Amino acid sequence: MQSIVVYCGANFGHKQIYRESAYELGAELAKKNIRLIYGGGNMGLMGRVADGALENNGLATGIIPNFLAKLEVAQKTLTELHFVDTMHERKAKMVSLSDGVIALPGGFGTLDELFEILTWSQLKIFHGPIGVLNINGFYDHLLAHLNKMVEEGFLHQAQLDLLIVSDRATDLLEKMQAYHESEKENKPLDTSLFVKNIEK
Ligand code: AMP
Repeated sequence: MQSIVVYCGANFGHKQIYRESAYELGAELAKKNIRLIYGGGNMGLMGRVADGALENNGLATGIIPNFLAKLEVAQKTLTELHFVDTMHERKAKMVSLSDGVIALPGGFGTLDELFEILTWSQLKIFHGPIGVLNINGFYDHLLAHLNKMVEEGFLHQAQLDLLIVSDRATDLLEKMQAYHESEKENKPLDTSLFVKNIEK
């Protein structure tokens, strides 16, 4: 894997462990020479992941919509910062640049991004590994609900199995790498299936 998009909170969360683990993930990506792709902001866990990558000589690319760039401070020291017009364009661009996806703890924005990519994976639009870094058991309730969706017949077990879950960044990245290597077809992303006029 050469690049991974990280979805995570624009807030820090109350506990110190969230910001520490976000920084560690950024550092681990740098160590493995995996470029970080993310929302481009410097606030909350987003800023910590980017700091972790950049302070450990890694590469970080931000994708930020123009309207957000005006409202908030984009991370200044990024390797690259792309400006786009819309939120949908931003999500498509982030995924089009990435070999895999990781969700850290976050709010609506993070869950929106995670569920969109799971849906695209289910529809075989996206073929990369999708990981959840379950820091401090943050995602336990959500994972229980996903199992409920299987029990009640709204989700196939095979689709739930697409989700790779771990509470440690190193372990998560190893599992995602193994999935990436096992993807025999390794199909390129056909961006026209979810948005028009996106440049790769
Ligand atoms: P949230 O989980 O609601 O804090 O939203 C964070 C996620 O949504 C990130 O992964 C971003 O891609 C996107 N996002 C939401 N709000 C912002 C913001 N103010 N600045 C940058 N990205 C944001």
